[in-house]
Amino acid sequence: MTLKLYNTLTRKKETFVPIKKTEIGLYTCGPTVYNFAHIGNLRGFLFYDFTKRVLLFNGFKVKHIMNITDVGHLTSDEDQGEDKMLKGAKREKKTVWEIAEFYTKAFQEDMRKLNFIPPSKLPKATDHIHEQIQLIKTLEKKGFTYSAGGNIYFDASKLTDYGKLARLDLGVKGQARIEKDPNKKNPYDFVLWFTKSKFQDQGMKWKSPFGEGYPGWHLECSAMSLKYLGEQFDIHCGGIDHIPVHHTNEIAQSEAATGKKPWVNYWLHNEFLVLSKGEKMAKSGENFLTLSKLEEKGYTPLDYRYFCLGTHYRKPLMFSFEALDGAKASLKKLFDKVLELKGKGKVNKRYLKQFTLEINDDLNTPRALATMWEVLKDEKLSAGDKYSTLLGFDKVLGLGLKDLKVDKIPQEIIKLAEQRLQARNNKDWKKADELREKITKFGYIVEDTKEGYELKKE
Ligand code: AMP
Ligand code: ZN
Repeated sequence: MTLKLYNTLTRKKETFVPIKKTEIGLYTCGPTVYNFAHIGNLRGFLFYDFTKRVLLFNGFKVKHIMNITDVGHLTSDEDQGEDKMLKGAKREKKTVWEIAEFYTKAFQEDMRKLNFIPPSKLPKATDHIHEQIQLIKTLEKKGFTYSAGGNIYFDASKLTDYGKLARLDLGVKGQARIEKDPNKKNPYDFVLWFTKSKFQDQGMKWKSPFGEGYPGWHLECSAMSLKYLGEQFDIHCGGIDHIPVHHTNEIAQSEAATGKKPWVNYWLHNEFLVLSKGEKMAKSGENFLTLSKLEEKGYTPLDYRYFCLGTHYRKPLMFSFEALDGAKASLKKLFDKVLELKGKGKVNKRYLKQFTLEINDDLNTPRALATMWEVLKDEKLSAGDKYSTLLGFDKVLGLGLKDLKVDKIPQEIIKLAEQRLQARNNKDWKKADELREKITKFGYIVEDTKEGYELKKE
């Protein structure tokens, strides 16, 4: 079935045509590991996972590369601001290397909890300094670089189509928005290699033909995708914030170095998770919510996954605890219903077609969820057919339906409930209440029924 994807490059939904029949090249911009990922970042990363699952669902093999940024990213995506890694190291009085290792592991743990299919490779920028230096040398040879104030810059004016992804206004009006850097020949030029760091305590430095220093942030994605996916590949994903600077500069470097256009055929961008009044989530401040914080408040990572599935990736997703409660309740209802569906059955072809049409329509996950509920409510389908159909859908949704198990009530809880029943039969209400409290403390609810009692997990 045809797969349609909205391509930022053309601003159109297009039919997906892979470069090679054998394997698709997918590159997704990964985290900067100077802090925990917040749930906004995780919305973006979940979108990468849905994209990959839809490709796999369509029968493609996928080579997925996601980078770990552990050097070079300044707090502005341009060449201004503080060094993010250094900021993290200072905050925690650790070295940048310790910070990188700790938060990379934390990110991998988040991915596991959220039921991501792990990327084929998760390469670190600091493990690819040689490749980045080689890329600068190629650009230098082809006349796309210049040195100024100790740094090596990319000369954006050497490309006739610089800024095509973002449709940048390169005229006077557009230029006025950019902070002035006296070293730059043109406002849109950007740093490939820093030697004159404004950060005296910069912990990460490497020897290079351009002097001791470190790479500019955009370079790593070009160098690593070139290494693992080749000079041209199929799909590149990232947040919408990356369109005007980071992805624009990735394209400039890559196409200048190889001379092959387009570097990437399909550019997919996710909208943001927003708070009330459109406020953005930041990695500092009160609204910094992580997956662990959600867990502390009683939500599971899959509650958050379900919450994200409910809004199309190209629409802003408004976060509130009320909305997350809604997702949690729906997921619980789904799990309860699926647990009742036992027995063998067949995938229902009509619903499979409907579901495929929806996810293949630019990953319409909200509509796909609605189809899942339609299946559950269809009285004409047998329990076994419903079960098989939903397991098929879950290859895309990733809610772990296959592994659902009825929670076994531990013997000690059953014993307490039996003692409580006894106390009630003896009209010892005080003891019965004490026992109920004890059961609640263990995370179970006891309800009185005609037959005696029913135990449930909270
Ligand atoms: P960083 O770890 O800061 O490099 O950011 C990682 C990714 O998170 C980037 O691709 C951003 O586009 C994305 N991102 C940041 N804030 C949000 C948000 N509130 N909602 C969705 N994606 C976000
Ligand atoms: Zn990138």
